[in-house]
Amino acid sequence: MAARRPLTVRCPNCLSRIAVKRKATEVFCEKCGIGYRICWPSPDQPMIRGLLAPYGK
Ligand SMILES: [Zn+2]
Repeated sequence: MAARRPLTVRCPNCLSRIAVKRKATEVFCEKCGIGYRICWPSPDQPMIRGLLAPYGK
């Protein structure tokens, strides 16, 4: 329970892991460059909440 896991989410697009900084509200996949909104159900558990608005929209 107290084990420290790296904070990551899985990109729904390419399924690669994305490292998330603690309390970050957005993150970008390094592989496909898509940005995601991050929410925190618990302080150690980031979850993708949705897509960031695409460029120019
Ligand atoms: Zn990706």
